[in-house]
Amino acid sequence: MTTRRELLSLGAFAALGLAPWPGSAEPAPPQTSPSGSTPRWGMVIDLRKCIGCQACTVSCSMENALPTGAHRTVVSTYEIPTDKGPGQAVLPRLCNHCENPPCIPVCPVEATYQQKDGAVVIDADQCVGCGYCVQACPYDARFINEQTGVADKCTFCVQRVGVGLLPACVETCVGGARVFGDLKAQESQVATLIQEHEVNVLRPYMGTRPQVYYIGLDGLLQDRVEAESGSRQLRTPNTHQEG
Ligand code: SF4
Ligand code: SF4
Repeated sequence: MTTRRELLSLGAFAALGLAPWPGSAEPAPPQTSPSGSTPRWGMVIDLRKCIGCQACTVSCSMENALPTGAHRTVVSTYEIPTDKGPGQAVLPRLCNHCENPPCIPVCPVEATYQQKDGAVVIDADQCVGCGYCVQACPYDARFINEQTGVADKCTFCVQRVGVGLLPACVETCVGGARVFGDLKAQESQVATLIQEHEVNVLRPYMGTRPQVYYIGLDGLLQDRVEAESGSRQLRTPNTHQEG
């Protein structure tokens, strides 16, 4: 498990031109809801705070030892028109840990499943690398890992959350845009943000019920995401232009 100190000492963020940042104000997630029941993990991403620095992308790749060029999360940049001319919008993307995930029923060997806490995970020992789940995900959130030969994607950093730590992307988010926690706990930061702000999910009409919520995801950006859906896997975080 990679700590922030290790990341800093490795110079990963210096390579991105980033300065060290103060400690995360976000508390580590509790392992049970106040009622004692299993949490339902989810994430809120405040697009107003994301600065597109890709610190989350780097920390995720290091934490999860991904091959070069493969990513479980990226921050995509979209060129969108504004009243004042061309503008840009950034969009952090990852597995949405959907409540109704179409990636699960297509698996012929039941290698991918949903934990009680909502995290959609993959049993690498069971996976045969057929890629059916990669095709079934409407968010391009999965890929076949070229090193392991099996399906790969964000797990909400189960290895960290299981010991009371935050997902690496949340821990290292420079702008404080990514917030992780228990959606069932009314006093949690994620639940409070959802109550107090207008939030949207990606491609809501798909019926997948994503559990990654965005603040500031307006219709224009949704349209851009829609137009490029299927052409932007997580391994390709580069800018797509207004077409
Ligand atoms: Fe499955 Fe894709 Fe939903 Fe993640 S975003 S749970 S991979 S359908
Ligand atoms: Fe299941 Fe692996 Fe095939 Fe995905 S690639 S459908 S997890 S066996």
